[in-house]
Amino acid sequence: MSDADCLFCKIAAGAIPADIVKQGPDWVAFRDISPQAPTHVLIIPRQHIATLNDVGPEKADLLGGLFLAAKEIAAEEGIAESGYRTVFNCNAGAGQSVFHIHVHLLGGRDMGWPPG
Ligand code: AMP
Repeated sequence: MSDADCLFCKIAAGAIPADIVKQGPDWVAFRDISPQAPTHVLIIPRQHIATLNDVGPEKADLLGGLFLAAKEIAAEEGIAESGYRTVFNCNAGAGQSVFHIHVHLLGGRDMGWPPG
């Protein structure tokens, strides 16, 4: 269920250090190494899944858990009321650079729309 060559699998396993914010049985949340906002947290499943295209209906609870974690962390980071954005990049054309699915939780500044 993990990929030996995957950076985020290594972070989830504790083999590579990260600034862990919160963990659950099925997910780990840590601060992005190159933050794009005052709060920039990544929420990843412990299970290796390369892209959103690889997810079937059997993973609905897993995906929902990532977003519920984002909501909880937003509240704990103090950005729930001011506003935050969750981003899920799929494949290189959308900006995905790490092929282990993750939710970006961004907040603490005003966000433009449309995104770049
Ligand atoms: P994406 O481009 O959507 O695949 O997002 C991958 C994110 O992972 C980027 O925002 C990177 O800055 C972040 N990232 C890459 N390596 C690390 C790392 N070792 N620790 C924390 N965040 C990382």
